[in-house]
Amino acid sequence: MNKSAESMEEPSRSLPIRAECDVLVVGGGPAGIATAIAAARNGADTVLVERYGALGGLASGGLIITLLSLDDGEGNQVVAGLCQELVERLDGRGSIVYPKAAEWGSEDPELVDHYRRWGLIWGRNPTVVRYSVAYDPEEFRFVVNEMVLSSGAKLLFHAWGARALMQGDRIAAVAIESKSGREAIRAKVVVDATGDGDLFASAGVPFDLEKVYPWLWFRMAGVDDVSGAGVGFFKAPPGEGRVLAPWGAADKIDRPISGVDVEDLSYAEIECRRMVMEEVARMRRETPGFRRAFLTDIASQLGITESRRMIGSYRLLRDEANSPNDQVIARTGNWTKAGMLYNIPFGCLYPREVSNLLVAGRCISVDHRVHHSTKEIPACFATGEAAGTAAAMAAGLDSSPAMLDIKELQATLVGQGASLGT
Ligand SMILES: Cc1cc2nc3c(=O)[nH]c(=O)nc-3n(C[C@H](O)[C@H](O)[C@H](O)COP(=O)(O)OP(=O)(O)OC[C@H]3O[C@@H](n4cnc5c(N)ncnc54)[C@H](O)[C@@H]3O)c2cc1C
Repeated sequence: MNKSAESMEEPSRSLPIRAECDVLVVGGGPAGIATAIAAARNGADTVLVERYGALGGLASGGLIITLLSLDDGEGNQVVAGLCQELVERLDGRGSIVYPKAAEWGSEDPELVDHYRRWGLIWGRNPTVVRYSVAYDPEEFRFVVNEMVLSSGAKLLFHAWGARALMQGDRIAAVAIESKSGREAIRAKVVVDATGDGDLFASAGVPFDLEKVYPWLWFRMAGVDDVSGAGVGFFKAPPGEGRVLAPWGAADKIDRPISGVDVEDLSYAEIECRRMVMEEVARMRRETPGFRRAFLTDIASQLGITESRRMIGSYRLLRDEANSPNDQVIARTGNWTKAGMLYNIPFGCLYPREVSNLLVAGRCISVDHRVHHSTKEIPACFATGEAAGTAAAMAAGLDSSPAMLDIKELQATLVGQGASLGT
């Protein structure tokens, strides 16, 4: 498509107010789910807006169905709170595979090999068992729906957060687009959990933008022999001949893409979908045990690891690994490096420029290397829980998140079961 250099004026118009609330969360992936639950449980009238018809973001629609990881690789749990509650609820339904506490940090080669086959240990190093969890995406969607709805948060599906409508340094409302047309939602505090920072970008907050090679994970069933699981494919719950293939397009398409460019996204969807079908045919032809296997599903969302990252009040940098931080509101290990730990300070979740905006999940204010750790699903749950708790506290005080008493926020998070190392 040839993009014209010309532009058009859009006539200004009044928007109907769809809702007024204390906390508006835009984006229903891991970060938005945790944000909405935490905000509602802390007494805020909360609305969660999601562009698709289900919760989970990449953790369901992207078929990224392994929580990597809730520990530091040395046997200590560093993500707890809502993510731990999710694991327990999934466990109660018998729909997950994960090592029990006594196995975390184990170097027993048999155990390591066992959990590597489930996609819970990546790469050659570290060769230790991590507290990571393999799950089924439909079970995940069911459980998080229950958690969000029972918290009292209201869900609005099939609605895009289109842009922040500013009044001075505040977001007065967020314009949403849906089949019902363009409407506005007013909130005291807004949380951008879109993964791509759609809202903070529209509010004029500065950001870094990375281009990446896209992924498109898929699942197959009817595999006669899963003994080769561990690298090109993993065993997937509930087992019984079902596998997950973490397929990626690096070296297969001609360029990395921007996750916030509509033409790049269209190109990647078309190319990756075609190549996945070729890969399925190749696996059936060449991989032992796959002759009668069949494709069950291709991720409905491209796997985009990184796009916009906010440049916020604080920027957590690579060389701050294993450094204490007295502003910590969430922690995460590194899924490929045992013993590496980041203490994420509150300032990574809010910008300098907008007084009633918080950000959670993979687009928080960290550098590219730290993002490798903070983008993982457990870490997104942890920053979401912190953002939702802070949003509810700020809304209750009619104040800005930046003005909160950090000790009170930390105490509230710890009281809820979050792990801050204190
Ligand atoms: C290929 C790949 C492999 C990965 N492997 C793992 C792994 O094995 N384990 C692990 O723990 N993590 C892994 N990750 C990381 C993890 O999946 C993501 O970083 C994590 O899901 C990010 O959560 P999030 O809530 O910030 O964003 P997302 O999961 O992207 O969710 C964002 C949500 O917001 C919605 N949304 C977006 N824009 C709007 C809008 N404007 N209006 C309304 N809604 C909107 C989306 O539909 C989505 O539901 C992987 C990621 C990729 C891409």
